[in-house]
Amino acid sequence: TETIVPVALGERAYDIVIGRDTIETLGARIKALRPGARVAILTDENVARAHLDNVTAILTASGIEATPIVVAPGEGSKSYKNFETVCEAIIAARIERNDLVVALGGGVIGDLAGFAAASVRRGLDFVQVPTSLLAMVDSSVGGKTGINSRHGKNLIGAFHQPILVIADTAVLDTLPEREFRAGYAEVAKYGLLGDADFFTWLETNWRDVYAGGAAREHAIAVSCRAKAAIVARDERETGDRALLNLGHTFGHAFEAGAGYSQRLLHGEAVALGCVLAFEFSERQGLLGGNSVSRVRAHLAEAGLPTKINDVQGGVPDVDRLMELIAQDKKVKRGKLTFILVRGVGQAFVANDVDPAAIRAFLAEKR
Ligand code: NAD
Ligand code: ZN
Repeated sequence: TETIVPVALGERAYDIVIGRDTIETLGARIKALRPGARVAILTDENVARAHLDNVTAILTASGIEATPIVVAPGEGSKSYKNFETVCEAIIAARIERNDLVVALGGGVIGDLAGFAAASVRRGLDFVQVPTSLLAMVDSSVGGKTGINSRHGKNLIGAFHQPILVIADTAVLDTLPEREFRAGYAEVAKYGLLGDADFFTWLETNWRDVYAGGAAREHAIAVSCRAKAAIVARDERETGDRALLNLGHTFGHAFEAGAGYSQRLLHGEAVALGCVLAFEFSERQGLLGGNSVSRVRAHLAEAGLPTKINDVQGGVPDVDRLMELIAQDKKVKRGKLTFILVRGVGQAFVANDVDPAAIRAFLAEKR
């Protein structure tokens, strides 16, 4: 089976093709979209080991000339140095205006390849073949591309939409389980922020999502649709898009506190951040019933951290956390912006959160 999620952003319209073994159709789809195109495949060493030979063979079988460009795995690859290496390699492979860049990897590769594609010859078309769950449901939708600055993550970049996204659910079978769980936090986030029925569905079906097959395809499709709908309403990030940051303001503070290390993966920080956003909302009298325990129970059974004590090596003290929160979200007139909730599936942007209330809440949680 195969699910197609059409995306329309600005002048761009493209398909996200989701399903088991959809990668087998990559050559034929590229040929249909860009007849005669040559391709540079950007990937990292881990993904290359598991999938590069197969992808190269699929393209070759369609008569497409493909040049691989392999970088080291990890966030460190979103660097100026790598950007230069990758751009030069794309040019050396004689990839020109009618040719394509293929991003075969997780969010790191998607961001780096997309930014290189946006830059070489003032813009080459590119195709996303996301290989991590996070990349399938988050980074390959929305058109944000970029690299990191010494001043912070993703500060150098461009909006550049792909012409096609191929999300092959079978490719996730080689993803380390911890990375899969971290990506699942973003899947659950879509339910928590705007789709209570989806969250209820996940509570029943998450094991099948982890196992693969039809449930995994469904969860990825719902997530991509949710992100595409929000981004289409707000492509340049002025209002609604902020809802996607549910769990991220708390999450980023813990992630930064752990030095963006293996101690706490991004998705793990988001899971914990979502629970805290629910707890804080309850504390503010926005939320009643059993939502907090429901959210915590589900994320915990799915193998994600939901308590500050779950973070390996602990978290910074409250002063440092408040500093990190203030850096992440600009403070306006002494108030913070947070994504809060009135229930499962009912997130909203709160622009007037009192820093003292956040501080007191965190002091109690630590
Ligand atoms: P990642 O790309 O580093 O992948 C995680 C790890 O899994 C890496 O070690 C990678 O080599 C490995 N891997 C990926 N797919 C694999 C597979 N199928 N088999 C075996 N190993 C595999 O990290 P990620 O979590 O995918 O993405 C994180 C990045 O995404 C961050 O840089 C973040 O800033 C970015 N991001 C971007 C957006 C956006 O809108 N552009 C949104 C969210 C996140
Ligand atoms: Zn995220």
